[in-house]
Amino acid sequence: MTHYDTIVIGGGPAGMMAAIASSYYGQKTLLVDKNRKLGKKLSGTGGGRCNVTNNGTLEDLIAGIPGNGRFLYSVFSQFDNHDLIRFFEDNGVKLKEEDHGRMFPVTDKSKTIIDCLVGKIAELGGQVRTQFEVVSVKKSDGTFQVKSADEQLTCDRLIVATGGKSYPSTGSTGFGHDIARHFKLAVTALEAAESPLLTDFPHKALQGISLDEVTLSYGKHVITHDLLFTHFGLSGPAALRLSSFVKGGETIYLDVLPDHSRAELEVYLEREREKSLKNALKSLLPERMADFIAQPFPEKVKQLTHKEREELLNRLKHLPIPVTGKMSLAKSFVTKGGVDLQEINPKTLESKQVPGLHFVGEVLDINAHTGGFNITAALCGGWVAGSLHF
Ligand SMILES: Cc1cc2nc3c(=O)[nH]c(=O)nc-3n(C[C@H](O)[C@H](O)[C@H](O)COP(=O)(O)OP(=O)(O)OC[C@H]3O[C@@H](n4cnc5c(N)ncnc54)[C@H](O)[C@@H]3O)c2cc1C
Repeated sequence: MTHYDTIVIGGGPAGMMAAIASSYYGQKTLLVDKNRKLGKKLSGTGGGRCNVTNNGTLEDLIAGIPGNGRFLYSVFSQFDNHDLIRFFEDNGVKLKEEDHGRMFPVTDKSKTIIDCLVGKIAELGGQVRTQFEVVSVKKSDGTFQVKSADEQLTCDRLIVATGGKSYPSTGSTGFGHDIARHFKLAVTALEAAESPLLTDFPHKALQGISLDEVTLSYGKHVITHDLLFTHFGLSGPAALRLSSFVKGGETIYLDVLPDHSRAELEVYLEREREKSLKNALKSLLPERMADFIAQPFPEKVKQLTHKEREELLNRLKHLPIPVTGKMSLAKSFVTKGGVDLQEINPKTLESKQVPGLHFVGEVLDINAHTGGFNITAALCGGWVAGSLHF
């Protein structure tokens, strides 16, 4: 039976960084993952380009983690997003910033990030075993036993980085919650977060349209970000963020031109009065969206009655969209809920009740917006969980 100082279960961003830190501290370290390759979910983020972190301030980071972000103050005081950016640059990966502080490798390839993390584990002497599915974990006499179907390994320190329960095809099936329950640690209720919205809206006409920097609102919740119309409703960061505040049965409102006031649009329409409405709107909006907005109105701008102008402005600035529901947990980008933070020491991410047992990443009751915030929480937390604290 092989014994390790540290075993890390889960080769997502949290587990890979935990294995790097543990190896850096001279620990005999093994990272196991049941997939054929590490970083399967990570590779799909940012449309396959890997939205590896966010270049915001500490306050931006906490605001980007609406699900218990404050718990991470201690983690970020040890290793934050700027340390991450330095980490990647020191290891030969140049990052670039895009809108909303989102950071990507300049190669626009997730593989660059995953290769860097995997390479660093090897450079520091850490070991990796893929296609190793842990089926049970026990602890006796201060040692953890980690079992697959046909093998048993032991370790002094066990880091659980198995992710949440969203997109289970990437490997995150909630096994870490079972480990927590086995050790009698509380797990909070799991829910879908960053969820695409199902809507009662003309999907066919709009499917595939992507709008930059529009405003979606529901009551006091006002979100300005990119939006995507899909065959079932709405996706993209604006919809994903608003999903925290709706369940289904509400009407949300879309402002497709948040940078233009109603008064400015009235002046614009007056100036363009000789044009067809579609053409006038095409200077402001993607063509198919302009067609959709113009559809119920007369052909020329000058033919609009006063009432129709008002209706047009409403359609541009306050378009009602009935929400019928959200995607299931499995089809949502992030899992809300997880290992109860009351169980966890925020300085080390170690269980308060079970010495040597750490939880990190989405397995914890922490959820963030897409835009690099979950990945930052996972990577920075991974460094802290894997480090030795003297
Ligand atoms: C399509 C998509 C897009 C996203 N976009 C963004 C984004 O732009 N920005 C952002 O911040 N977040 C984004 N996220 C969320 C982000 O990817 C996750 O929060 C992040 O990957 C969590 O990291 P993790 O290391 O905790 O877990 P995961 O990345 O889920 O890794 C967990 C690993 O544990 C392994 N594992 C589980 N059980 C076992 C077991 N029993 N034995 C062995 N191995 C096991 C799994 O195989 C998996 O590889 C996105 C998610 C999805 C699905």
